[in-house]
Amino acid sequence: MIIKGFCHPPLSSERREAELDCDQTGQVTLRCGEHIVMVAVAELKISPPLGTLPARIDFADGWQFKAVQENELADWVRHNAVQPQRWVHRLERNWLAIVASAALVAVLCLGAYRYGIPAASHMLTRLLPQAVPVYLGEHVLETLDDHMLAPSQLDAQEQWQIQDRFALLQDNLPPLPFELNIVFRSWPHGPNAFALSDGTVIVLDSLVEMATTPAELDSILLHEVGHVYHQHVMESVVQSALISVATALIVGDSSGMADMLTSTGVFVASSGYSRDAEREADQFAAEQMRKNYGTTEPMAAMFNRFMEHYGDSELPEWLQSHPELEQRIQALK
Ligand SMILES: [Zn+2]
Repeated sequence: MIIKGFCHPPLSSERREAELDCDQTGQVTLRCGEHIVMVAVAELKISPPLGTLPARIDFADGWQFKAVQENELADWVRHNAVQPQRWVHRLERNWLAIVASAALVAVLCLGAYRYGIPAASHMLTRLLPQAVPVYLGEHVLETLDDHMLAPSQLDAQEQWQIQDRFALLQDNLPPLPFELNIVFRSWPHGPNAFALSDGTVIVLDSLVEMATTPAELDSILLHEVGHVYHQHVMESVVQSALISVATALIVGDSSGMADMLTSTGVFVASSGYSRDAEREADQFAAEQMRKNYGTTEPMAAMFNRFMEHYGDSELPEWLQSHPELEQRIQALK
């Protein structure tokens, strides 16, 4: 559609013949002698006719257009240009729409945090070369040995017995992403066991002493093997890295990334996983207990003994999500 009219150069009352070419795609071309400019409707400042004032179009570079047949331009303005502005204007005034939009954005962010990042971590973990979890596992064990753990006080024969028995048990397990390596350490803060990213399972002397039967000890070791099977350590590390990278991108600081990865590895090993990860490790252990011992009773017995022994105070890794512990024991039945 072409609207005949005239235009004024920037800051001038000079009047020149001009035409405005409005196409279907929202592009508007102003032709005024040698001055030809093409812009999107959205970039124009359009003043609808007001009283005796004609409809007028202001271009960003200062040119103004008015139509000969004012109603032509007025109609076009009414039908095309004003609509989006009116919609935005209405939205701006509608606080409910703004609150709803903000809530939608918040839900999308939470959704990405709750499901998107874990899903991405799950996938990325499986794309990592083996060398990464192996390096991290060795590095974390060294760090734990330097700062937290002491050599085991169990006699060598007892250690071998447990390792041998577990090696037999291992033959019945589904294929694991890493070879298991059971190591013994002592630590004064109560019975515990933790898996590292490379398949190392650290067993504390106090856990061995707490178990009254081999099946009871194995149930906790199998829980740790569940973490190895599902690669929870690496998933948690990748997840923390993703969150840190996302934070660094938003905040604009990416220093200390390598330190952060190591400390995350230590943190994950010593403080536990998400509830979902604990549930998965429990399920793995329960399934293997049923298969190898025909019962999950020894596992429930260990959970209960630990509850009695420690009450509400600091819980070890395999009992991390304490509020759900009752449910976890129920789930074993
Ligand atoms: Zn666990």
